[in-house]
Amino acid sequence: MTSPVLDLRFHGNLRELLRPRHRNRDSVAYPLNRRASIKDIIESLRIPHTEIGRIVAGGRERDLGWIPEQPATVHVFPLADGHDPTRPTLLRPEPVSGIRFLVDVNVGKLATLLRMAGFDAASVPELDQGELAGKAVSEKRILLSRNRDLLRRSQVVHGHLVRAEQPEDQLAEILTLYGLTGKTRPFSRCLRCNTLLEPVEKTAILHRLEPLTRKYYHRFRICPHCRRIYWRGSHHRRMAQLFPGLRGKT
Ligand SMILES: [Zn+2]
Repeated sequence: MTSPVLDLRFHGNLRELLRPRHRNRDSVAYPLNRRASIKDIIESLRIPHTEIGRIVAGGRERDLGWIPEQPATVHVFPLADGHDPTRPTLLRPEPVSGIRFLVDVNVGKLATLLRMAGFDAASVPELDQGELAGKAVSEKRILLSRNRDLLRRSQVVHGHLVRAEQPEDQLAEILTLYGLTGKTRPFSRCLRCNTLLEPVEKTAILHRLEPLTRKYYHRFRICPHCRRIYWRGSHHRRMAQLFPGLRGKT
């Protein structure tokens, strides 16, 4: 007896994640010769579950645990731009409590850029894959990585496979995906350790300033954790390039 066959239709940017032989076809035929959840079936085609926004089959929305047993056409959609992970969905009933990221070492520069934009972006390069996944779950952070195996781990709930190659493009990708473009707060977070900066009186840090900085700058912020000092001149040109709206502001 031949196995029933699922007709899988991948939409949007999910298709580029498929193997080349599947990528240019409208659908992927998947023989149901074993009992498996739709999550396992989709992941066997190289797409981490974190990338899936909706699954529709037989006119119904399906969750990741759905086990197809009959021939069916299954539409698989990516996360839509402007996705809000703080709201529960059928696929992810447990939302994150806020937009907070955990950034894998393979996109390490993205962590700095997210902090530059004011977002909470933790990174712990010494963690192995299991520890990284565990930290993302326990701290309810969105895991950002270019490693599909990491994002395929079943304990990971919220994450994203970063597609862009260049850090600036990766930042734009993340801001677009999570609808954060208008929510940046440059100059608010420590680039080194991710802590929120605090205003500091110039007189309190005068002894730490170079003569020219002391002469030309008057407003400063300090990281309460690592004590690094920030002022308009430090990193400001790079920030102004990344965030044109910053020009003219402190
Ligand atoms: Zn710091």
